Amino acid sequence: MRKRIAIIDRQKCHPQECGNYLCAKLCPVNRAGADCIYPGDDPAKKARIDEFLCTGCGICPKRCPFGAIDIINLPETLNKPPVHRFGENQFELYSLPTPMFNQVVGIVGKNGIGKSTALKILGNQLPPNLGKWQNPAEFKEVISFFKGTELQKFLEKIHKNEITLSAKPQQVDLIPKQFSGTVQELLQHVDGQGQLASIAEALQLTSFLDHDISHLSGGELQRVAIAATVLKNANLYLFDEPTSYLDIKQRINVSHFIRSLANGHTATLVIEHDLIVLDYMTDLINIMYGHEGAYGIVSGVKSSREGINAFLEGYLKEENVRFRDHALKFQKIADESRVNNRKMIGWNTLQVDVGSFHLQTSSGELHHNEIVGILGENGIGKTTFIKILAGFIKPEQGQLEGEVRVSYKPQYLETSSEQLVSEFLQLAIEKYTNQLINPLELEKLFTLKLKELSGGQLQRVAIAHCLSQDADLFLLDEPSAYMDIEQRLIVSKVIKTLAFERDITILVVDHDLMFLDYVSDRVMVFTGTPAKEGQLQGPFPLQEGMNLFLQGLGITLRRDVGSHRPRINKLGSVKDREQREQNKWYYS
Ligand code: ADP
Ligand code: SF4
Ligand code: SF4
Repeated sequence: MRKRIAIIDRQKCHPQECGNYLCAKLCPVNRAGADCIYPGDDPAKKARIDEFLCTGCGICPKRCPFGAIDIINLPETLNKPPVHRFGENQFELYSLPTPMFNQVVGIVGKNGIGKSTALKILGNQLPPNLGKWQNPAEFKEVISFFKGTELQKFLEKIHKNEITLSAKPQQVDLIPKQFSGTVQELLQHVDGQGQLASIAEALQLTSFLDHDISHLSGGELQRVAIAATVLKNANLYLFDEPTSYLDIKQRINVSHFIRSLANGHTATLVIEHDLIVLDYMTDLINIMYGHEGAYGIVSGVKSSREGINAFLEGYLKEENVRFRDHALKFQKIADESRVNNRKMIGWNTLQVDVGSFHLQTSSGELHHNEIVGILGENGIGKTTFIKILAGFIKPEQGQLEGEVRVSYKPQYLETSSEQLVSEFLQLAIEKYTNQLINPLELEKLFTLKLKELSGGQLQRVAIAHCLSQDADLFLLDEPSAYMDIEQRLIVSKVIKTLAFERDITILVVDHDLMFLDYVSDRVMVFTGTPAKEGQLQGPFPLQEGMNLFLQGLGITLRRDVGSHRPRINKLGSVKDREQREQNKWYYS
């Protein structure tokens, strides 16, 4: 068995620009006369590493000027070949989650660990090669690889078309590039069983069925993508991040909807990073761990509660595997030094009309060195309010006290820009290497163009860009989208550090309540009817604002006894009734 794997990022390897295979010149195995590092057979002859010869000395990853090499030791307990490897010195996946009829099974893990790859294999879109990329395995071999497992039966049924599947892709922002026409036209095209009307109703699409796909917001696109997935006649549904861009009300609605799909003939798999929603939506959980971009392993199946707690803990009890050397903790520690009343900007009761939308606010103020979470549905006036603070929109009634310069990270980051990350992040590189570039691990993206970044990479770059600008008030609109849980925790810390060091105000709009709860000092709450009228209240202390917001949503949250993470109470459960009676929608 191989002890380690070598990953070469072919986008980053430039053999002619590093001094003609610098890595091979330095490799002790090559120097002793063997071909451990050698030119590949692709047209650009990018470097390749023989993983059997490599001794793991660690020289080449350190010395490659473009950071193209990673050498990773495999766990000793891993004594089987992979299910799939993309190619020589590329990512490999060691196991697959098992879909189950009548159950919603969740998959949780960091980005780049192989979640989407696993779904593609189960979804028949990627034939597994059992690690033999030059000579891919035949179906018979794949079946005997999984012999005696539930997966064997599942794969056989998929192969015989006894199971048909339907999958929702992760990046719904790409849909308008693939389809043109109205929502109705797109959905009619896939409506195998004449269910369009009822599904449009359940996912609240009826008000925009006649809209052109190219004009939809991200939240609308997400729901259309979910509708298109379930309209197809299938009995295995795969959902890759079904709640990005959805507000909390919609997240809960989509959770109920996805839960309603599982029955004796239907199985559902979901990848999701919002842990409150993942917990609420699923019956069982598979954890994926390993080393991002190098290899991924799927844990045995666990109950949702235990699975999420084990994921946060970084330890799988049944397998006796520690896959992270620390636990992830979203529990807040009261920090009195963050409480201050130094005003950044204030406002009295404001009223404004933009188009047919009316916004009204109570009076309030924002402080220096403060992070204020913003809670509210999509289309309820959050951006309009920020434009008022920035002076771009003049209120018809009321006025601001003070002036601020604003920097804004929008919710949607679709970019086709040819600009290099290093150019785009020039200010951050000059001024905030320790606060932004290092913790967000941006240096390894410097040589890439903006258009080459994945959703999560682009998000990190956009956050750093926004926070490095010369401004007083910063608005981050949905910074958690496409980020995994570890990255959400890092972003929270980055935001806190920068608010303190720059003495600025940061407003965070986000629909992941666990993230928002962790990052916010205070919260503002928007209520009303999306696209018609909105009211802003606050900022409130966290507890009070969350309580008000959850009451409006009609859900209660408790803390998990083991991990202290927030969980949604089942409607009508003892805890739910108790908390409602005490008017404690939010745990204390
Ligand atoms: P996740 O869904 O957990 O974020 P993915 O399954 O998308 O992870 O990717 C796992 C790894 O496989 C990543 O390093 C990714 O770059 C790599 N990968 C994905 N698709 C391909 C491909 N077609 N060829 C080579 N590598 C790929
Ligand atoms: Fe040069 Fe790095 Fe490529 Fe090796 S991996 S050939 S050092 S660019
Ligand atoms: Fe050679 Fe492996 Fe050392 Fe790299 S890590 S220099 S490939 S022995």
